[in-house]
Amino acid sequence: MEPKGERGGEPQPDSRPRTLPRGQERPSPGEEQGGPVEGKETRLRVVLRVRPLTGTETRRGDQQVVHSLGDGAVHVSAARHDATFGFSAVFDAGASQEAVFEGSGMRQLVELAMDGFSCTVFAFGQTGSGKTYTLMGPLAQSETQPASPALLGLMQRSFTCLLEQSRSRGSDLALSASYLEIYKEQVRDLLSPGPPCALPLRWSKTRGFYVENQLSVEFESMEAIVRLLLQGSQRRRTSAHALNRHSSRSHALLTVHVRSRAASTCPSKQGTLCFVDLAGSERVKETGSSGELSVEANSINRSLLALGHCISLLAKPRGKRTHIPYRDSKLTRLLARSLGGSGITLMVACISPSSRCLSETLSTLHYASRARKVTTRPMANRVSQTENPSELLCPAAGTPLTHPFIHPPLP
Ligand code: ADP
Ligand code: MG
Repeated sequence: MEPKGERGGEPQPDSRPRTLPRGQERPSPGEEQGGPVEGKETRLRVVLRVRPLTGTETRRGDQQVVHSLGDGAVHVSAARHDATFGFSAVFDAGASQEAVFEGSGMRQLVELAMDGFSCTVFAFGQTGSGKTYTLMGPLAQSETQPASPALLGLMQRSFTCLLEQSRSRGSDLALSASYLEIYKEQVRDLLSPGPPCALPLRWSKTRGFYVENQLSVEFESMEAIVRLLLQGSQRRRTSAHALNRHSSRSHALLTVHVRSRAASTCPSKQGTLCFVDLAGSERVKETGSSGELSVEANSINRSLLALGHCISLLAKPRGKRTHIPYRDSKLTRLLARSLGGSGITLMVACISPSSRCLSETLSTLHYASRARKVTTRPMANRVSQTENPSELLCPAAGTPLTHPFIHPPLP
C-alpha cells in the first residue's frame, strides 16, 4: 500500500498569484531583489563556496588558482586559463559555516518551506570539494561526541531555524523527515529498519515523480532530527579513494516535510525542504578507482551527466525549450520539480582552489553559471483539511502505522 504520510493526498495548488511574505528585504532564493512571486518565473539562486587548500595540497605545494574578487565574482587564473564568473554570492576559504548559512539565502528558504513551498538546496562539485562539509559540517562521530557548534552545516542550522519558528508559531507545524539515497540507480530508504531497501520511483499526473513507501519520521527536537541525520548518514554508501577518505558513493536526499496543523488554516499548507548531497563527479584516473569503485563512479558520473544535460536544456528560454529528459536518471526524476517545476531552489557549487583541480573546477563553474539561467514557477502546496490520511504501512517492518507521521523507532 502506498503511504499517504506527509503528503496526505494530492497538493492542491492555489492559482492566485501571491507575493511571498518573506525574504523581500534581503536577497532570497530564487531572485536577487524582492521575494519570488508565486506562479511567476523565478531564477535559481546559485552561490559558490571555495574551500581552503587541504594540508596535503599545501604540503605538495599546489598553487591557489581561484580568487574571490568580492561582490559575487570569482577569478580563475592559471597557465592557459583566465576567466571571471559571477554568482549570487561567493564564499571563500575564510567564510564560516554561519556566514554561508546567512549569506546564501538558506534562512529565507527555510521560511518559504514553512509557507508551503517545495524548497531544495543542493550541493554539487568535484569529489572532495566540500559538499558534505557545507551541508552537514564534520558529522559527530557519535551522540556522545557532538560536532563543534561553529562547524555545523546548512542542515543543522536550518533545523534550528525550523524548530524555533515552529515553537514561535505555537507548535502548529508538524515536522517530519525522510532520508533517501540513490546508489547505482537504486532509490534506497536510509531510515527504514534493516539494510537499506530499494523503493520504486513512480510518476502521477498530480504528484509528478515520487518515491513509493518512503518512511517519514516525525520529530519535535533538535536531538531527534540530528539522530536521524547521523543514523541515515552512517548507512549511506561511502568509500575511501585518493581524493577523499570518506567519499560519498551515493546521492543523498534528506527531506523535511512541514505541515501546518492549525484547524483554522483551510486548506493547510504543506511545504518541504530538501537537502541534496550529490556524490561528486570524479575522474576514475585521479581517484584511483577500480572494480566496484569504478562501477560506482560510472553510475555517479552518468547521473550527473543527465543532470547537466537537463540543466543545459532548462537554461534555454521557456519558449525555446525542447523536451527535458528527466527520465534519464533517478536523480533527475527526483529533482524535476526543483529544477523545472513549482519549487524554489538554491544551488551551492563547491570547488577546490588547487591548481591540480583546475579542469574539474572550471567544469563546475561553467555548470553553475548555466544553472543561473534555469527558472521555476513557485507554487505553494495546499492540502484540504477534509482529506483523511489512511493507514500507513511501514514497508520494511510490515508494521501498520496509525498516523502518517509516525513510524517505529529506528533499530
Ligand atoms: P565532498 O563531499 O565534496 O566529497 P567533503 O565535504 O567530504 O567533500 O570535504 C573534503 C574534505 O575537505 C573534508 O576533510 C572536509 O573536512 C574538508 N573541507 C571541505 N570544505 C571545508 C571548509 N570550508 N573548511 C575546512 N575544511 C573543509
Ligand atoms: Mg560528500
